[in-house]
Amino acid sequence: MFSMTKVQISSVITGYHVYKKKQPIGTVCYVLKDKSNVHDKESLVVKNSDSQTIGHVPATPVTLKSTLNEVLDISCSAIEIKCEIIGTPTLAFPPWVNNPNKPGAVIPCRYTIEIPATMAPNVKDIMCKHLGYDLVNDIVKFHEVFTPPTSPSQYPDSPDWKLYRNQIISELLKEVSGDQIKNIHSCHDYVDISLRQKEMGLNNNVCCKCNYVYSLGNRNCPNCNHDPKYNPLGYDPYKRTPSQHLKHPPTVTVGEPCMVNPNNEEKIGIVLEHLREVCNIPEQRKWLVVWSDGIPYLFGMRLQQYVYVCSSCEELVDTRKESLDDHTAKHNHDNSINFHRAFSDFIFRPGPCHIELNMAKCLLNFCWPILLLMVSALGFRTKKALDVVKCGTDHHRSKHILFTLFDALARELLLTHVRNSLESGAPVSLESFNDWVRDSVVDPNYLYLFDMCFTFLLAFKLYNEGIRKNNHEVVMAARIFFAPLFFAGNHPKYQELHLRDLCDRVQYPPELALEMKNTESFSVSGEFNKGQGADFVHEETNKFIKSFLPPGVPNAEIWQRVCRKSEMLKNLKDKCCSDLSQSSRYRLPRMDNKQLMMQRQVRSYLASPVNQKPHVSLSGETMIVNKHFAKLGTLKKNVKKVELIELYYEMCSELEDQLADETVPEIETDNIDTV
Ligand SMILES: [Zn+2]
Ligand SMILES: [Zn+2]
Ligand SMILES: [Zn+2]
Repeated sequence: MFSMTKVQISSVITGYHVYKKKQPIGTVCYVLKDKSNVHDKESLVVKNSDSQTIGHVPATPVTLKSTLNEVLDISCSAIEIKCEIIGTPTLAFPPWVNNPNKPGAVIPCRYTIEIPATMAPNVKDIMCKHLGYDLVNDIVKFHEVFTPPTSPSQYPDSPDWKLYRNQIISELLKEVSGDQIKNIHSCHDYVDISLRQKEMGLNNNVCCKCNYVYSLGNRNCPNCNHDPKYNPLGYDPYKRTPSQHLKHPPTVTVGEPCMVNPNNEEKIGIVLEHLREVCNIPEQRKWLVVWSDGIPYLFGMRLQQYVYVCSSCEELVDTRKESLDDHTAKHNHDNSINFHRAFSDFIFRPGPCHIELNMAKCLLNFCWPILLLMVSALGFRTKKALDVVKCGTDHHRSKHILFTLFDALARELLLTHVRNSLESGAPVSLESFNDWVRDSVVDPNYLYLFDMCFTFLLAFKLYNEGIRKNNHEVVMAARIFFAPLFFAGNHPKYQELHLRDLCDRVQYPPELALEMKNTESFSVSGEFNKGQGADFVHEETNKFIKSFLPPGVPNAEIWQRVCRKSEMLKNLKDKCCSDLSQSSRYRLPRMDNKQLMMQRQVRSYLASPVNQKPHVSLSGETMIVNKHFAKLGTLKKNVKKVELIELYYEMCSELEDQLADETVPEIETDNIDTV
């Protein structure tokens, strides 16, 4: 009996829109060379057991097709490539789209190659060459890279997401019920009291904890001592998410500065070359994680995907401009040469703080029909001031506004149901609330805010928690649920970034995947709720260095000098200023008054959601005038794309699930090198 190595690759069958042969899930088909295709001698056809053509092995990205072709070539048909259908036909999605205007349709499938042990080394060579696994060659055993998924995925039906959302809604239901003061016929609460005060021209505080009305001169509520401006000491706004920070905080070291602006691929190439030199690749270490802002990340990923090095002339070949075959022909190379990826010694990761920044911008844009009036009431009156808020330039302020908006909207969305229940004597519960929204609510304004609040704003909140606590599951659940908004809005860079990042996560070998999971964020101070993305750690270091630069445009020499001495400068500064530090006594601010104001404004907008109403903004403009609403309307169409993203993630988490009972060797990584 021969021992066999089994390799499985999750991918798709293309051409469903041509052949229209739907196969039941689980059907096993076969991959054969397509001799009838005169245009493409590499073409591979997928046939079912009745020899009917189902489709083709995807032509983009070419790696899979080349791999399977070469495997068939060397084996002289000793190896059979099977193809198991794992999903229903669906619109083609990146990276399997040739023509974005006519995407076609694909069938999700799993290609399985069973290789006799005698042939495994040859097949391994082919795999490494085409699929770029040279990067991890020495830390991954061949079969582990492609071990088939075993357990069902936890995404997209993420328990973390559901748990978090249900927990928050349940807590808020309790709070909102508790806030209501019941009369014989109706309920009222602190928002009604405050509205009434306003009507009467009075300017008093209303305590949101006990409904007590008191004059502005008092700092705290005289009745219950609640402080509307600050949270108590030690308050953890991220208490729902468990911390997964590593035991030892990371060490931040500053390397030699590289004096280029990473604003195109060529310059990114220079920065990477610089990093290689500084980090002694490949002598001292084999590879490096590079965190960066979204745009340099995309440049890096594209370089990695398209640029190869020729083993003969050591020239870089950009396959977008010249195919590898053309290069071989042009330079008269013989058959002994090979190509390897020029930047396979880097792992690019998109900076979490820049993702957060773009989430905030996206949310501000989609919430603007509601926010415009609220933000003007907060004191941003001129068009210029409003534009600045809308652009999200001040991220700190955007976050405060969005979190407060969530708190206000969530309460107001629950209010009608809570009052109905209290007035009819029915118990208030999460289930009854969900049923009510599903069965009775028809007001488009209510449904718009319901989606905004309990999906997108909530995902934003959850993402923040995940980063603060370095909790991978929470971070990914939030990103998956937020993604539709990137696809509905005009965010091509973050759409591509999202897909590329998920594709990468799918392909990490297990040891690497674990390392990546453990390092979503870093707490430099070691505190359990102060995690930041590596990009932000870098930006803080940058700020620190800049604070030592003389005024005016700094020259390269001064930059270099400050960087080299930065550790010493930091020690010095810590020693001088440590006694003045207030950080341990810092209390987190509360937004009670802003929240109250938002609740007051949105209350009548959300009244009687069981009645059909025109779809309008908070100031009453109809959706035809307002392009944001129109955009949100296209969201449903885009959800199709997002299901596919979820499919990606499924593949990814399945790979991760195998980690459960594996022991993990120590991997050396340096996560603080950032472009
Ligand atoms: Zn009070
Ligand atoms: Zn930045
Ligand atoms: Zn060459």
